[in-house]
Amino acid sequence: MKKCECGSYAINDHLHGRDGTDQDLCDVCYWRKRAGKSSLDIVELLDALKETKHRLEKLHEMFDLATAGDKTLAIINTQLRKHLYEN
Ligand SMILES: [Zn+2]
Repeated sequence: MKKCECGSYAINDHLHGRDGTDQDLCDVCYWRKRAGKSSLDIVELLDALKETKHRLEKLHEMFDLATAGDKTLAIINTQLRKHLYEN
């Protein structure tokens, strides 16, 4: 009987929604490994969102500089900021 690295013999690689991979892992370690991977995906996604937000803020600053003195464009930029960040 196969044994997982954690000491468990509960290796059911075709049960409990398992896809047949990681046959050396018990059911708990199998799902723990996948939960860890999706946490990493979420961290990467949040980093990408932060970077996107930073770039948008830079774009607004550039727009402000490029349109300095134009009241209509300043109002549009302010409204755009509200729409993007306050929803
Ligand atoms: Zn295990």
